[in-house]
Amino acid sequence: PPDVEELGRSTWTFLHTLTATYPTSATPEKQTQMRSFLGLFSNLYPCWACAEDFRNWMADPSGKNEPRLSSRAEFGQWMCEAHNAVNRKLGKKEFDCRFWEERWRTGWKD
Ligand code: FAD
Repeated sequence: PPDVEELGRSTWTFLHTLTATYPTSATPEKQTQMRSFLGLFSNLYPCWACAEDFRNWMADPSGKNEPRLSSRAEFGQWMCEAHNAVNRKLGKKEFDCRFWEERWRTGWKD
């Protein structure tokens, strides 16, 4: 079975990098593509329990966790909140989402 921690670190790098390179203002097509990607990703992520919780988080009946895809700023913030939801579940420290771009776009270093 996959190493869930190693897979997680690599996948978060990928997901935050996806937001860091997202258009500053996204066309409807881009938003549709990304919505499809997130739907597929959350079904195919090869840690099945992780994937199921992630799907349920996104589908919260309040609607508050729906992907926000209009811009890099919105999507980056949303992904940070998604990651924090997992951090909370695992008892890890939450990340201050004001700094997501410094961590994943402008700084690039760990
Ligand atoms: P990670 O959480 O992997 O974070 C990597 C780096 O990202 C951190 O060092 C920090 O610099 C930065 N970072 C941290 N928080 C944020 C944030 N909110 N926004 C931006 N940057 C941030 N593991 C399980 O055991 N059970 C699960 O149910 C589970 N679900 C997961 C669901 C998804 C969608 C993904 C991608 C991973 C999941 N994981 C799960 C793995 C888990 O989230 C961690 O990746 C793994 O435990 C390794 O943690 P880490 O402490 O090395 O840092």
